[in-house]
Amino acid sequence: MGFQDPHSYADLSQGKIEHLDLSIKADFSENVLSVRAHYTLHNPVSGSLFLDTRGLHIGRVTSQGRSLAWDLDRRDAILGERLHLKNLDRTREFAIEVRTSPEASALQWMKPGQTLGGKFPFLYSQCQSIQARSVVPCQDTPSVRFTYRAELEVPRPLTAVMAAEAVGVEQAGPSARYQFSMRQPIPSYLFALAAGELRFRTLGDRTGVYAEPEMAEAAAWEFAENETKLATAEQLLGPYLWGRYDILVLPPSFPFGGMENPRLTFLSPLVVLGDRSRTNVVSHELAHAWTGNLVTNATWEDFWLNEGWTTYAEGRITEAVSGRELSDLIKVVGLNELFEDLQRFGDNSKETCLKFPQEGMDPEEVYSQVPYIKGSMFLVALEEAVGREAFDLFIQKYISTYRFQSLSTEGFLTFLADKLPEGARRVDIHQWIYQPGYPQNAPRPSSILYDDVQIKLEAYRGGILPSPESIARWVPQQVLLFLQLLPRRIPVEDCRRLETLADLGKVKYPAIRVQFFQIAIASGYREVWPMVEQFARTVGNRWAVGRLFEAMVGEEWTRGLARPLFERYRDRNHPMTVAHVEQILKKAAL
Ligand SMILES: [Zn+2]
Repeated sequence: MGFQDPHSYADLSQGKIEHLDLSIKADFSENVLSVRAHYTLHNPVSGSLFLDTRGLHIGRVTSQGRSLAWDLDRRDAILGERLHLKNLDRTREFAIEVRTSPEASALQWMKPGQTLGGKFPFLYSQCQSIQARSVVPCQDTPSVRFTYRAELEVPRPLTAVMAAEAVGVEQAGPSARYQFSMRQPIPSYLFALAAGELRFRTLGDRTGVYAEPEMAEAAAWEFAENETKLATAEQLLGPYLWGRYDILVLPPSFPFGGMENPRLTFLSPLVVLGDRSRTNVVSHELAHAWTGNLVTNATWEDFWLNEGWTTYAEGRITEAVSGRELSDLIKVVGLNELFEDLQRFGDNSKETCLKFPQEGMDPEEVYSQVPYIKGSMFLVALEEAVGREAFDLFIQKYISTYRFQSLSTEGFLTFLADKLPEGARRVDIHQWIYQPGYPQNAPRPSSILYDDVQIKLEAYRGGILPSPESIARWVPQQVLLFLQLLPRRIPVEDCRRLETLADLGKVKYPAIRVQFFQIAIASGYREVWPMVEQFARTVGNRWAVGRLFEAMVGEEWTRGLARPLFERYRDRNHPMTVAHVEQILKKAAL
């Protein structure tokens, strides 16, 4: 056996996919994609080739007009089914026809009623971490990169988009066929498509935004700084190598804040709040164009290389665009979320290490703030050890050395020891990477904005909630921090006053609402229930929904309400969110 990724059947000693030509037809009546995939390998292969699949109906498998022998010879709840192509004979090209399952884990088929406009269905994919295999057989490991061309047929008047260059469209009766080309090699998890009633707004020379018509104007306003951000990111990370940077705003069931699909970030509508207060999510997804999409984690065990670096770069972009005070405040908020996760997993649990063996584990199940926040603070510690100037040179060297490659944690540490020996000496690298918890002498960011929050918290300990005037100028992150640092259980009367004070009935910032729910539920504030119900009906963000249900199963008065609430809105959610909540409810024996 050659290279092994615990989340893929691929055996890279057999050979690697170099290019895919895809012809895809979306059937909205059956919720199925019909896919014809033509594969080109780097080199001719003889013998076996293993591909990852999940729930695919496999049709013809051919090479140069002749049928190829194949078998689905292994099955696993997490990995899916292994497609074993047999008796290859110096084969470099072959083709597979498949139909996806209506339950394909990467695909979300939305009925018109689940969209903003309400008139047309909507389809989008989410392939990270190991869902691409539910769309097309592939070596579904971030260690394999391929280029592709694709044709995506959708019924008119839907618009099809992909995380690739749009190269043409032709009308075909009741359908339209959109053509795309991805000339930069990508790992499978960055394969992405979507279709719906969409409008496009130009933001700058290289930037624009797609959204449902009802959202298009608001989205264009919210992301007006994107062109500037792109230039700022290039200063820090080097030239942008993907051509355009556009955003696709998705319907509310999108399970993440954003997904860094190349050229086309998929973004939650929860980022469009009318005040640009969450556009740091865009800075994050944009930074992935370098850290993640150019330099990619070798396996999902090295996920912190993607997310730690990206969270670090996000902070630097926020600092350049909005100032140090805000970027420091966001760090403080992140650190508090990390500490909540450390508590949830337990201080000595392996899930709080930056790297730990994940054989037999679903990468989605170990999802937490650890790779993001602990990972980024490790890089902050390195920056503080060597100074910003030296660290910035290191960043540029890192990106240019490994661009369009996959890298393991150990590969990174070797590079670090070689190119930044001072940092490697001064920071306890082994503890940061392989030990649980947050290191004792790790950086503890602070900010003036945070100090004001501390003063109000101190007053609350003396029994005084802040006055509305005294927090009128707070940014949403300050409100969030205040709630994060309040005790979980407070008098019901204080919950009521808090709700009015921060106008929580109207706040859209999802993390603020979730934080308030956690307090209200733990405190037995029953009046919060209509807000909880409304949240469960309209928000599909996996993290936010998960936190809400975790809070509910932990309290006597909400335990019995959790399962019925979830069932009422199950259909509105993405399969990944459904799986996450199921896991929480089952753990609580509900
Ligand atoms: Zn990220």
